[in-house]
Amino acid sequence: MRFRFTPLLAAAVLALGVSNSANAAEKLKTMASFSILADMVKNVGGERVDVSELVGSDGDTHEFNPTPADAKKLARADVFFVNGLGFEGWMERLESSSGFKGATVVATTGVKARKIDEDDDAHHEDADDDDHDEHADARHHDHGDMDPHAWQDLANGEIYVANIRDGLIAADPDGKAVYERNAEKYIAAVKKEDAAVKAALASLPQSHRRIITSHDAFGYFGDAYGLEIVAPEGISTASEPSAKDVAKIIRQIREDQIPAVFLENITNAKMLEQIAKESGAKIGGTLYSDALSGKDGPAPTYIDMFKHNVGTLTSALSSQAK
Ligand code: ZN
Repeated sequence: MRFRFTPLLAAAVLALGVSNSANAAEKLKTMASFSILADMVKNVGGERVDVSELVGSDGDTHEFNPTPADAKKLARADVFFVNGLGFEGWMERLESSSGFKGATVVATTGVKARKIDEDDDAHHEDADDDDHDEHADARHHDHGDMDPHAWQDLANGEIYVANIRDGLIAADPDGKAVYERNAEKYIAAVKKEDAAVKAALASLPQSHRRIITSHDAFGYFGDAYGLEIVAPEGISTASEPSAKDVAKIIRQIREDQIPAVFLENITNAKMLEQIAKESGAKIGGTLYSDALSGKDGPAPTYIDMFKHNVGTLTSALSSQAK
């Protein structure tokens, strides 16, 4: 028995090992610039794709500094998924320094980009203030005139998914049927969540639809779901608001009786805590803006992020209604 079985077993183990490593080698290697995009790529790529991310959970993509290790990781990837619209200001430098030879897929291709409206931005109201003009110029050079946070509208999320699907098919045509099937299923889930968000927020009273967040990440969300967002930091986290900006927000909260301010998972809570304290607004909770939570947190996926954010918004704003 023993003599007959052992070589057979060894051969079986060997075959298993070989076939496993062959499968691993066949997987398409992809890199996503940030965690929200990585989750989308995982949903569309499924078993055929390895996904790594540059900026992980709770990370700030605006202020990311790629390391040589990141460049090495990118060099090994077949496809690099990025948001675009100026979100990854470090992207071109990283691509050229890494010698990346794969395909870059811009997930916002075809999205109707939201222009940064300076009239709506608390920063830019003092036109004769030279300091402010310089800040505004710096911001525009760094981030362009477009708001990059398009994923915060689930209808845009559908466009991201379609671009990811097409990018994967171009890089791995044998997987076409799988990517199409996965994308179709995932788009259905995104559409369902979009309807759920609209239904949940429809019940908010008109007078409780203006909120404060620390940086201006929810413009698309506000446009899509009927909220007005005021943010002392502007469109990127890279610029610190001045004392004057903060004072202006505090005045606005009092005058407009804005009920709540919301912290963000990627930004320091200190400034908003001060604003809440001085204005009398309450802290409504933490919103996930530019990154997911870790696996065990409240927003480990793109769709969970909306469930969490909408739950946080409705419980803070509805309780103020009466
Ligand atoms: Zn942002």
